[in-house]
Amino acid sequence: MTGAQTTGVGSTGDKDFHFPPLTNGLDFVISAVDSLAAEDGPAPRELKYAVLHLQAAAETLFKARLEMHEPSLVWTKPDTYSEAKHTAGAFNSCSIKVALERLNSLAENGDITIETSLDPGDVDLEALGKLRNRIMHFGWRDSAVAVQARTLPVLTLLFDFVSRDVLPYVETFPDSWTAEKQMEKVRSQLKHLTDFVAHRTKSIAAQLDGYEHSTVACRSCGQHALVLDGGAIDLECLFCGKAYGSGEEAAWEFIGEDRYIAIKDGGSDFANCESCGSDAVVAGLRTAASPDTDSYICFSCGADWDGICGYCGSGGHLVMEDMCENCYEIRLAKF
Ligand SMILES: [Zn+2]
Ligand SMILES: [Zn+2]
Ligand SMILES: [Zn+2]
Repeated sequence: MTGAQTTGVGSTGDKDFHFPPLTNGLDFVISAVDSLAAEDGPAPRELKYAVLHLQAAAETLFKARLEMHEPSLVWTKPDTYSEAKHTAGAFNSCSIKVALERLNSLAENGDITIETSLDPGDVDLEALGKLRNRIMHFGWRDSAVAVQARTLPVLTLLFDFVSRDVLPYVETFPDSWTAEKQMEKVRSQLKHLTDFVAHRTKSIAAQLDGYEHSTVACRSCGQHALVLDGGAIDLECLFCGKAYGSGEEAAWEFIGEDRYIAIKDGGSDFANCESCGSDAVVAGLRTAASPDTDSYICFSCGADWDGICGYCGSGGHLVMEDMCENCYEIRLAKF
């Protein structure tokens, strides 16, 4: 059976179609991965649809597994479920985050088995959601390679999830056969994309070697390939080529906000750097060397500080818990 074959009610000809949720979700995955793994890289318009389709795939596939267990769980409010409205699509369906929470709790209760690690706060899924919002509502400038790297972890997650946690539980043969065929297509394209990203990662490895303490993840591609080296001008991601500018401007570009708007809305500037005087010390960075602890690096001069001083608000070497050397000396001089 193909995805376009008629199994629905009231079939009148070859234009009728019936896409069960799993087939439908996998069709979105195929559309996305076909574009993302294109030989010469995706064209901008294809890239846009790849992101939208991948987001649709994630929503559809996680909910497909819920639906297989209990259709009402796809509803925002399961206790208001009605089969008639469900069939008509006249209901509000839950978010991806809620779908993952529900899958996890079903697994915890022993109602279903889930082998994939499903995190409702998954950073890659969140990044995909933000990318989709930027495409739909705001301006969008990202390179093809950034989107390819950004979307790869989501594609991999969906592929693993369908293989391990959905396909084994599909009850009817035609549905499982169709899905297996679709997964074959995804598998080969996903391999191309994985190889492409791995090759690129390998090609910049030598440039990053030794700079792990000052290398942070690029906002566009999500790869640890942005080196905040001492005195860097025109910071640029080595993986995707995203340009950040220099100094304070680069710090704002890194968090994706505009300084003027942020401060007008009551936000504050970045911490001042004791070394170069720029307001460019970004707090809470995760570097390639220490991905689990916060780092405080100046985007202007590359100074790597212990933290932000609780007294003067500058980035500095902290001698007491949250007091920098300067403030400590000033305090000592007063006695
Ligand atoms: Zn990048
Ligand atoms: Zn500095
Ligand atoms: Zn201080």
